[in-house]
Amino acid sequence: MKDMILRRIPVGTLGTNCYVLKNPGSRDAIVIDPGADLTLIQDALHRMDAVCRLILLTHGHFDHILAVGDLRAPNRAPVCIHEADAHMLTERDMFSAVIPNDPRPFEPAEFLFKKEGSYTAAGFEFYVMPTPGHTPGSVCYIFDGLMFTGDTLFKNSIGRTDLGGDEALLRRSLRALKNLPGDYDVYPGHDEPTTLSDERRNNPYLKNLQ
Ligand SMILES: [Zn+2]
Ligand SMILES: [Zn+2]
Repeated sequence: MKDMILRRIPVGTLGTNCYVLKNPGSRDAIVIDPGADLTLIQDALHRMDAVCRLILLTHGHFDHILAVGDLRAPNRAPVCIHEADAHMLTERDMFSAVIPNDPRPFEPAEFLFKKEGSYTAAGFEFYVMPTPGHTPGSVCYIFDGLMFTGDTLFKNSIGRTDLGGDEALLRRSLRALKNLPGDYDVYPGHDEPTTLSDERRNNPYLKNLQ
């Protein structure tokens, strides 16, 4: 799957990275974290001649999910999230008061990840690595050399833990990422892409983790 076509689309007021992933030779695409700006996501799908077949969420924070309802509707693309963050789709939260026309609550996710492992869907094979800490249900999605880290790991930074997170858990998750064998291209939930080897070397939060 090394030739996968990938687009990064910054969406919403926080510039959250939404990603569209497509196999060449197929129109089937995965959308990761449709956080807002449905029309930007649809434009990208259109330009890639792609159809959204699956929606993967790295966690349940509003800036990663607000376009879920509109994106899933036309093709009934199933929505997947870790079970510990599933309630964030179906409930409003403390941010609802400041989000204009908060579209939540959404229908429940079609599929809940409960454990680490390989999954196959929509012609894609990927590995789900639970990385709790930023939220209880944060996960990283790994596709053969590519890693989508949500708000767990950023270029030179890590996710905050003051919005329902757990610092000790995040440290443990980051240690697990750091100790993965080999290298990955890292596509975080905010800011620029990086690589795992660069983060092992340069990220002040990763450097000192044993
Ligand atoms: Zn977040
Ligand atoms: Zn975020």
